[in-house]
Amino acid sequence: MTARARPVVAIDGPAGAGKSTVTHVVAERLGYLLVDTGAIYRTVALAAERRHVSWDDGDGVAALAAALVAREAIRLERTANGGQRVLLEGDDVSTAIRSLPMGQGASKVSAIPGVRQALLELQRAAGRAGGVVLEGRDIGTVVFPDAEAKFFLTASIEVRAKRRHDELSARGQTSSLSEVLSEVAERDRRDSSRPVAPLKQAADALVVDSSGLTISEVADRIVDEVRRVERRLSEKAAGARG
Ligand code: C5P
Repeated sequence: MTARARPVVAIDGPAGAGKSTVTHVVAERLGYLLVDTGAIYRTVALAAERRHVSWDDGDGVAALAAALVAREAIRLERTANGGQRVLLEGDDVSTAIRSLPMGQGASKVSAIPGVRQALLELQRAAGRAGGVVLEGRDIGTVVFPDAEAKFFLTASIEVRAKRRHDELSARGQTSSLSEVLSEVAERDRRDSSRPVAPLKQAADALVVDSSGLTISEVADRIVDEVRRVERRLSEKAAGARG
């Protein structure tokens, strides 16, 4: 492995832990590239829908994902405010992939081993040079097991359910808090028990529990740690130069 001047930062964790917001703030503060890997799974779900391939058709979706990657039909671009734009066949799908059905679709297609395999190289290519924050479920365990800075962002199930409930209410959807809580528990169970790349904390990840912290406090902890890693890498590089 070639030594990187700046680290790969992996941020994994369950739904509702605040990953997206925190990752955005962290990438902005560090001046790093942001890679939201969930968006890539969502884009495959959207591509399947557009081509009338059922999300339950494992072979069909895996073949589609492989073909999209081979044709470089999924592209990640940086937006002016440091966010991420996703293009599918040149079409900006950043908003279309955020719908509830595409979240469901992403959760289904991401459980297909061939899909995960097809998207692996795409994610690695996006992060390999370092100076990048990748957000997902298996970044520190599968995509970049050699990431120099790994975080597992979590929060109690009550807090995550409350956040999700507030998010849904803000979008005008009415579900009771207890319904949302059982949905979150079900998603946790599915994500942690799937045979391929289950949601699992990397042994060397720093666990950050966001339950009682603000976004800014969570981001501070992560940024402080990444700065420490940056110093270590530059000392190592200086040592290697003699
Ligand atoms: O993070 P987001 O909600 O956009 O992810 C959508 C779905 O994609 C998740 O529910 C999860 O099942 C899947 N996913 C995954 N591995 C990743 C990122 C997302 O399996 N690295």
